[in-house]
Amino acid sequence: MTAVEAYTYNADVVCPDCIIKRFSDGIDAAVVATGNAETVLDLAATARGVDRYDERSYDSGDFPKVVFGNQLNYDPDAGCEHCGDCHEPLGHEPADCYRPFA
Ligand SMILES: [Zn+2]
Ligand SMILES: [Zn+2]
Repeated sequence: MTAVEAYTYNADVVCPDCIIKRFSDGIDAAVVATGNAETVLDLAATARGVDRYDERSYDSGDFPKVVFGNQLNYDPDAGCEHCGDCHEPLGHEPADCYRPFA
């Protein structure tokens, strides 16, 4: 089973915690507090008139698109991917990092 590990937004790859921070404006604080990025984005998308379950209908510059674990780069040559906001590793443990934190 492949989980949503991150989001592409505005040319960045961003972890779920950071995407919540970017989209928490106008969202019920109790929902934000659950830390469930998918629920927060569902509400944020509805508020913006975005159909986030039809990713071809919008641009990742306008609203985040999901990144699954198997879509993250992870090899010694390409380096592994880290969140563009907090620089935490995406889809791997810090001990498995191929490149230092930015
Ligand atoms: Zn982050
Ligand atoms: Zn890493």
